[in-house]
Amino acid sequence: FCKVSGRNSKLFYSPKMNSMYNELLLLEGEIRKALSNEDFKLYYQPKVSVETGEIIGVEALIRWFHKEKGFISPSKFIPLAEEAGLITQLGEWVVRQACMQHKKWVDTGYPPVSIAVNVSAIELQRNDFSEKVKAIIDEVEIDPSFLELEITENSVMQNTEDCIKTMNELRSIGISLSIDDFGTGYSSFGYLRKFPINNLKIDQSFVKNSLIESNSAEIIKAMIQLAHTFGLKVIAEGVENEFVLNFLKSQQCDYYQGYYHSKPIPPEDMEQMMVLKV
Ligand code: C2E
Ligand code: MG
Ligand code: MG
Ligand code: MG
Repeated sequence: FCKVSGRNSKLFYSPKMNSMYNELLLLEGEIRKALSNEDFKLYYQPKVSVETGEIIGVEALIRWFHKEKGFISPSKFIPLAEEAGLITQLGEWVVRQACMQHKKWVDTGYPPVSIAVNVSAIELQRNDFSEKVKAIIDEVEIDPSFLELEITENSVMQNTEDCIKTMNELRSIGISLSIDDFGTGYSSFGYLRKFPINNLKIDQSFVKNSLIESNSAEIIKAMIQLAHTFGLKVIAEGVENEFVLNFLKSQQCDYYQGYYHSKPIPPEDMEQMMVLKV
């Protein structure tokens, strides 16, 4: 995927690059439109207890069903939104939408599950980020202890001290924090200790290979042990079959997510999965 560096920088010209650049510009305009038309939707993927199979939370994942182009993956448009300076607006929309969904579920009588939102590095780097999140929580009136923010390890590796300050502010509001895609970035165990986090999410690349590659299995074992030593809960991402789940069970992994339990689904389908308390 082509990354465009700065609007004003002179691009080395080739017809192919030019058309790619045009496509990016076009898509950027479409993100802007989609934001004002509310064409985005949040899907939810359950977080499940390895031990009991109980749903303990959900992760909100943004979806964009483009009228002509069909489904566009967040892995494609989130980096674009970051590049175009639209991620703050988009991120705020996601947090508000997720909080409103949580509120609606609680008010309807569903058991209160935590709701996790992915946060981009750019959002986390803003010095008004925790203030903004707090304002949304107050506006929507939810219990902040049900909100969880997922931050990738790489995003905390830039301006680490500032990020830790923001993370501490978020924690003092009552929000939980998770490190997402753990193992794919700089993964310094030493740093891990400095971050005021609650959960560690093991990246799906290790989880998927855990039964066919002994390295991945060993890495998972070490991550779980270490996380538990630091008092963190561990979530394995990308669990696609019962064999992997059994391996995780044997390693005392706390929670999992993956197609084996459920793909990300629209809120209506999520409601069918949660049992109403009458
Ligand atoms: P992520 O936060 O690590 O989310 C996990 C991704 O793995 C999701 O892809 C999910 O659909 C997928 N997944 C879950 N279980 C399985 C499985 O068993 N097998 C396989 N093959 N995949 C599984 P998705 O929804 O395409 O999102 C991709 C990435 O885009 C996310 O990775 C996250 O980094 C980003 N993203 C998604 N929504 C948002 C958002 O609202 N804001 C921001 N900033 N980033 C988002
Ligand atoms: Mg995530
Ligand atoms: Mg992940
Ligand atoms: Mg990811």
